[in-house]
Amino acid sequence: MKNHKRSDKESEGWRTSATAKKSQTKRPKEPRHLFSAWSNIARRARRARAIVLFLDFDGTLVRLRQNPKEVLLGKSERRLLSRLAGHPRVTMCFISGRRLADLRRRARVKGALYFGLHGSERSDGQTASLPSAGRLRKGMEWVREQVRSLPGIRVEDKGICFGVHYREAPEETVGKAKSVIEKVLERLGPDFRLMAGKKIWEIYPSQMGNKGIAAQDLLRQFPRRKLAIYAGDDTTDEIAFASLKSSVTIRVGKFRETHAKYFLRDPAEVLAFLKKLEDTLV
Ligand SMILES: [Mg+2]
Repeated sequence: MKNHKRSDKESEGWRTSATAKKSQTKRPKEPRHLFSAWSNIARRARRARAIVLFLDFDGTLVRLRQNPKEVLLGKSERRLLSRLAGHPRVTMCFISGRRLADLRRRARVKGALYFGLHGSERSDGQTASLPSAGRLRKGMEWVREQVRSLPGIRVEDKGICFGVHYREAPEETVGKAKSVIEKVLERLGPDFRLMAGKKIWEIYPSQMGNKGIAAQDLLRQFPRRKLAIYAGDDTTDEIAFASLKSSVTIRVGKFRETHAKYFLRDPAEVLAFLKKLEDTLV
């Protein structure tokens, strides 16, 4: 829980442009605890012909860790997820800022779809290729050079975008790294954007998708009478919450503002919810 409390403050400094724009137009309402609305949601799940279940990974299904490399799904959680993914009416889709191969290796749930890099790398074969790769690479190398002497700052090459992690960095270092990010954005110009997640800044080409676009894309493949459920804990999930208006959207963790309709306190509650869903669908 400690990690959660601290990490919810971290996205306050910067918000993604899409989130900022949405919240200017419509102020989010207070979400309800998901279990307080359970009978209604269970009814919708029983009636739906298809249930499309979007699950963010870090901070949603597993607790956040100092080192993102240590995060793995536990055995019993994997069993529960596999049973749900195998249900004939359920399509499960993991959606994360991690790279596709990394996400797959950590979750290892058979029968699920995997959307990495906020939906830009997909296990269903649709992977975006973007023309601005060369410039991005130069920007990344420049950042690497600038933060080389800063303790706890880690640059991650994600192929079509790059991330700068600062979870392990002391506060004064974070400030310095932030100004490096501001400078690189200036150098790269308007073809690139910043996405601020939990203890990570990501620089990506403007044409790259986001979790909202990716979720909508998948949902278009389903006929009517579908129920979309989306659970996530991050500012990057807010874009999806805002775009999935008639869906069951769930923000995980402590927060001030959200576009989600419901909330759950931590990954343990998310797993309890998934168990309830399984029992409902039997
Ligand atoms: Mg997350």
